[in-house]
Amino acid sequence: MAEQPGKVTLEKLVSLSQRRGFIFQSSDIYGGMGSCWDYGPVGVELKRNVKQAWWRAVVQERDDVVGIDTSILMHPQVWVASGHVKEFADPLVECKSCHQRWRADHLTEPKCPSCGGELTEPRMFNLMFKTFMGPVEDAANIAYLRPETAQGMFVNFANVLNTTRKRLPFGIAQQGKSFRNEITTGNFIFRSREFEQMELEFFVKPGTDVEWFEHWREQRFNWYVRHGIKKENLRLRDHEKKELAHYAICCSDVEYLFPMGWSELEGIADRGSYDLTQHSKASGKSLSYFDDETKEQIVPYVIEPSAGVDRSVLAFMCDAYDEEPDKDEIRVVLHFHPDIAPIKIAVLPLSRKENLVQFARKVHADLRSCWTVQYDDTQSIGRRYRRQDELGTPFCITVDFQSLEDNRVTIRDRDSMNQIRVPVAVLRDTMTKKLGGENILVLPEGGEVWKQG
Ligand code: ATP
Repeated sequence: MAEQPGKVTLEKLVSLSQRRGFIFQSSDIYGGMGSCWDYGPVGVELKRNVKQAWWRAVVQERDDVVGIDTSILMHPQVWVASGHVKEFADPLVECKSCHQRWRADHLTEPKCPSCGGELTEPRMFNLMFKTFMGPVEDAANIAYLRPETAQGMFVNFANVLNTTRKRLPFGIAQQGKSFRNEITTGNFIFRSREFEQMELEFFVKPGTDVEWFEHWREQRFNWYVRHGIKKENLRLRDHEKKELAHYAICCSDVEYLFPMGWSELEGIADRGSYDLTQHSKASGKSLSYFDDETKEQIVPYVIEPSAGVDRSVLAFMCDAYDEEPDKDEIRVVLHFHPDIAPIKIAVLPLSRKENLVQFARKVHADLRSCWTVQYDDTQSIGRRYRRQDELGTPFCITVDFQSLEDNRVTIRDRDSMNQIRVPVAVLRDTMTKKLGGENILVLPEGGEVWKQG
């Protein structure tokens, strides 16, 4: 495929990811494992930041949400009760000539997209990975790798309610791996068979669900904008009745304008009381809630914002990617929001002379206690800037011979490429302000340290 100058494509991101250590094909040295991906040294930081930003907005900053971390393998009855054993299937068709398999609802024409051949009638293919618990491989020991994290929240509803004494409305949030034996995968990390989700189950009184559905639609849309995604590349799309999953009353997707077109980033669904009712019936345990106002037992409704970590990572990368003319060349730069940027600061001594390296190492040691900071003294300064631009590092700090005399260093801004010189003594405060400084205690001017006891 011809590369379009200046425009982000998945090919460019795959190549940048490989070159700079964001994402590698899984089991690369064995020729790769289709539809599985490994996050490299830079990618893992990016992914952690995405998850951290979600956790901060959905759990840490709210009074009405608590977190949880449940196991991937669950009692097989969970998946019977949830409807996944029966319903979690996609329509599969096979080409009668080349035998490639396709998801029927993704095809625009009733013929094989690869060779144009005739297709079989669709049959429903269950997406859950099956395995066996313990050493005996028989039907009694079947276990499934979870295809969503949500069921971990539903089966722990009573545990959380009893231990936290939360009252409605309240939510339970979780991040973790999910597995789906997708018929077709692709578009880099957009659709894989092993991926991570960030899900919230927000329990509400029946009758207030529409209002809370609207609340979470807006919250989740704004989360992407808050972390730097351009508004014009995002949209909310309401599902039509025929698109709805078996449990949903209504559903909206947050969609992003990926290089392959508008696609789902996150789904927000009103699941009604379906899941709690099903689990209560199947387990024989009450999952109801005593309403203090009406003095009645009720089964809460649930609003579920369900986002993909990997799809979010891909959206952040696509949106941040830019190619800018720089003298006679092209500068590739990722304009990540500071909260999302995998490396926040790079410390770059202008030479490898011992006294300069010592100075720069000290600056690095001081800053790394607060942020992920890279130290780099290889190659020319121009190439090092370029490397950091490709990693999306918001600030580079250069240490030169003048620094040894005046105790000042230069801060170079990734986006404007402007440079300012500041005393080392105020460097940490300056960086705190520039990076947004969340989670970092800064003593304001004239402030004092408060000592306990
Ligand atoms: P699609 O229609 O794209 O298959 P879905 O509607 O089945 O997705 P949900 O069940 O709503 O997806 O899952 C919630 C989120 O989990 C999705 O919005 C997406 O971000 C993520 N997700 C789902 N399947 C995959 C996958 N195979 N690879 C990566 N992320 C996924």
